[in-house]
Amino acid sequence: MIGLISATAAGAAARDRLAVAWPDRTRVYDGPVGDAVRRAFAECEQLVCFLATGAVVRLVAPLLGGKAADPGVVCVDEGGRFAVPLLGGHAGGANELALEVGELLGAQPVVTTATDAVGIPGLDTLGLPVEGGVAAVTRALLDGEPVALETEVAWPLPPLPFAAAGTYVVRLTDRAVEPGAREVLLRPPSLVVGVGASRGAPAEEVLEVIESALREAGLSPRSVASLATVDAKAEEPGILEAAARLGVPVVTYTAGELASVAVPNPSDAPLAAVGTPSVAEAAALREGGELLVPKRKSGGSPAMATCAVVRRPGRGRLAVVGLGPGARDLLTPRARDELRRASVLVGLDQYVDQIRDLLRPGTRILQSGLGAEEERARTAVAEARRGHAVALIGSGDAGVYAMASPALAEASADIDVVGVPGVTAALAAAALLGAPLGHDHVSISLSDLHTPWEVIERRVRAAAEADIVVTFYNPRSRGRDWQLPKALAILAEHREPGTPVGVVRNASRPDGTARVTTLAALDPATVDMMTVVTVGNTATRTVAGRMVTPRGYRWQEEPE
Ligand code: SAH
Repeated sequence: MIGLISATAAGAAARDRLAVAWPDRTRVYDGPVGDAVRRAFAECEQLVCFLATGAVVRLVAPLLGGKAADPGVVCVDEGGRFAVPLLGGHAGGANELALEVGELLGAQPVVTTATDAVGIPGLDTLGLPVEGGVAAVTRALLDGEPVALETEVAWPLPPLPFAAAGTYVVRLTDRAVEPGAREVLLRPPSLVVGVGASRGAPAEEVLEVIESALREAGLSPRSVASLATVDAKAEEPGILEAAARLGVPVVTYTAGELASVAVPNPSDAPLAAVGTPSVAEAAALREGGELLVPKRKSGGSPAMATCAVVRRPGRGRLAVVGLGPGARDLLTPRARDELRRASVLVGLDQYVDQIRDLLRPGTRILQSGLGAEEERARTAVAEARRGHAVALIGSGDAGVYAMASPALAEASADIDVVGVPGVTAALAAAALLGAPLGHDHVSISLSDLHTPWEVIERRVRAAAEADIVVTFYNPRSRGRDWQLPKALAILAEHREPGTPVGVVRNASRPDGTARVTTLAALDPATVDMMTVVTVGNTATRTVAGRMVTPRGYRWQEEPE
């Protein structure tokens, strides 16, 4: 819950805007501000105070408990001009909240946390549990002192300025070691615990066998990624409760899937009960990896739970990121985050230039020219397989006539793939033209570089016959000039000469143009490779200069 506190009428007006926008996330604290701040501090995870920073500093100072426990506090000035995360920038989420509040109120977020300001990801923002001297090691990173990275387990880190050696150390480990004063431990989710349980096995017994296995093997519970078991045990309360207490999900497999896994300690009991000679070991080993703790039984008599622990192979991360049509504000926030999350960026040189300023310092850039698509796809996958965090970029949507399919055709199951959708050219153009895509529509690329012209022509003809709105990508280049007239002629066999046609060049870019013409009047010479051409169907009209395709023949009678 976010507690909202204000003192004056102006503050209350801004406060109410937040309360109305986020009814389920916020609670207004009325009354004398000192009292309100104290109550909100005790009850909420976050506070937004429409008060001077000085006033808030004095009020919360006596309440401070520690970074891990204190709520995040954001101050907004009386004029609603600035949103200042005052306390709990990272752990309390105040930096992020300030961005959100800023967006809502039109206020400038003023983030003063050093790592955010200089473009180094905070060690506590990597999505991994951290232990040890976070403040000391972060300061060393910011001061440019050598900080060494020791990776016992591969995990795709964002770019951080690590040195070959140093007195400060960041260690990626799943072992139960204590951090030194100048050391930070990052806990990657590298351990899979396979569990078996008899019906009605108590959660305590399941937890006990897991925890003792980890303890004796010297492994950290904070690196446990999941509990794995057979699907017949998917609803077993003791397993669910143990997973909830460890804060991890339960992953299940069919008996058949488990029976096919080679294990060191098969037995007859599970074979009779659930149809596989091993549950704990097989479930833990199902995704591959190294068996660190072979099957062991709980201490009960009879023993009702078993477990086995596997260190799974490190997984790289491939993000396939669409950059949108060009304008910076049509690049999604998620795309921006993924670009900053990557330590390796792969893309066409002109797209790299488009977003270079968003990258964190230290990002390795692998750019290549037009025509090197296959090489880019292969490079991106190879880097991810080496355990890196890779972003493969494309303009518009990276899955539309772009890099996603060649890359995923190469990718194996041993990497994680994240897709970030982007605004594709057809949509960017449609928004400029009016509402040409209000009913069924297709995109067709007129490039016959990779597709035989007969195939393209057959598809154009099908769209023509089916009366579907068509957007042509790659419509015309210097060496390919007859395809567009030919495609338009096929459409003209089924559509009137006056059918509206939209021609959009460089949509959303500074020199962009959009115009609406007709099938008969379109001059193909005005079309080039920076352009998309959208041809209306027989119902498409021009209304006040805009292209409009009705949603249906009876659309005005139908509800939205
Ligand atoms: N992945 C891209 C498309 C790549 S194919 C996307 O989703 O938009 C390249 C073709 O896309 C170009 O020849 C052109 O037809 C079209 N295109 C890309 N960006 C454009 C823009 N800003 N304005 C108009 N057309 C564009």
